[in-house]
Amino acid sequence: MNLHEYQGKSLLASYGIKIQRGILVENASEIESAYKKLKEETGTEYCVVKAQIHAGGRGKGGGVKVAKNYEDTKVAANNILGMMLKTPQTAGGLNGPGKLVRKILLAEDSYAPDFSACKEYYVSILLDRASKRNVIIYSTQGGMDIEAVAEETPHLVFKEYIDPAHGLQGFQTRKIAFNLGLSGKAFKEMTKFISNLYKAFLGSDASLFEINPCMHSGNDEIIAVDCKVSLDENALYRHPDLQAMRDTTEEDPTEVEAKEYGLNYVNLDGNVGCMVNGAGLAMATMDIIKLSGGSPANFLDVGGTADAERVEKAFKIILKDPEVKAILINIFGGIVRCDRVANGIVEAYKNIGNISIPIIIRLQGTNADIAKKIIDDSGLKVHSAIQLQEAADLVKKMIA
Ligand code: GDP
Ligand code: MN
Repeated sequence: MNLHEYQGKSLLASYGIKIQRGILVENASEIESAYKKLKEETGTEYCVVKAQIHAGGRGKGGGVKVAKNYEDTKVAANNILGMMLKTPQTAGGLNGPGKLVRKILLAEDSYAPDFSACKEYYVSILLDRASKRNVIIYSTQGGMDIEAVAEETPHLVFKEYIDPAHGLQGFQTRKIAFNLGLSGKAFKEMTKFISNLYKAFLGSDASLFEINPCMHSGNDEIIAVDCKVSLDENALYRHPDLQAMRDTTEEDPTEVEAKEYGLNYVNLDGNVGCMVNGAGLAMATMDIIKLSGGSPANFLDVGGTADAERVEKAFKIILKDPEVKAILINIFGGIVRCDRVANGIVEAYKNIGNISIPIIIRLQGTNADIAKKIIDDSGLKVHSAIQLQEAADLVKKMIA
């Protein structure tokens, strides 16, 4: 689950990290009062208007604007709030439709008054699966072109791996501050920043923290000016406060609906819908679809109890995708008997009515033969198979 910048910043602040302060605005009528409040807090007229969407590269798409006074702020805020913001990271990139901006952050201008005295660093933390360790990635070359820095000058990007048994050590935070070229107060501030950031990362069960820019101010403070946070959904139950930050308007609506039903669903761009029980079997099914010349339209694990209700919900979810030309149901009846699943499928099919695309059903396991008979005798326009290869051949025929 991703957090908005303003939410990520509040998480960082709760761990004692200095952040670019800001006030959230969800409605144009709040702009003036938010600006006044911010001005009182910061004591300056300067302000930065930042679109809050779950995508980076906002600066490149016109979603971050620096304003010198209230007039500038009002114009920028009214432009950004409600705009369809296209960034290199929104669907389709700068040529795509963009994403609706529902909230903006009026933030203090952290670079004022002397922009040239500020430096932009890059700091991120993530799990490196290959080394089975968390890694802190950092660079002196932060800012909007970090992707190009990583591509063209990879020697300017440093990595610090953290031993899970020992945790982040003092010598490591000092090494990071040293490699960033810091000394004196800034050096000390950076070691504190990294150490608190790592505490926040572990404490929130995050899978990614990205602070870019991490700003080194003229008076040697280290400030998180931007903040991208991804949390591990499997650990969210431990963090009701973070769970409450979920913004479903930023997520794929079908995936949100599937989650409500307790289905594990991921939308993909192929043409064969699949309904499977068990993640391993779901992956194998996607492979076989690919091998038979099709391409999976989704990943869907209905879980252990493939009863009529769940099957019906899963059907409805898959049928929402206009690209789907056929559906392959592949269920292994281990604990749940195949004949029960077959009855569930027949019932769900009848309940939904007018399904016009071919359905291929493969039920294997306890009572598979009885299940096949139920499907074949149902009078519905479905095709049954017992072997996976048979099912794959049917898929191939149906989408040809
Ligand atoms: P992103 O483009 O989505 O990563 O959004 P950021 O929050 O990183 O903002 C984009 C860029 O705007 C940053 O790289 C900064 O250079 C600039 N920026 C952000 N905050 C300020 C600020 O307070 N003052 C000034 N002058 N520039 C800022
Ligand atoms: Mn950024």
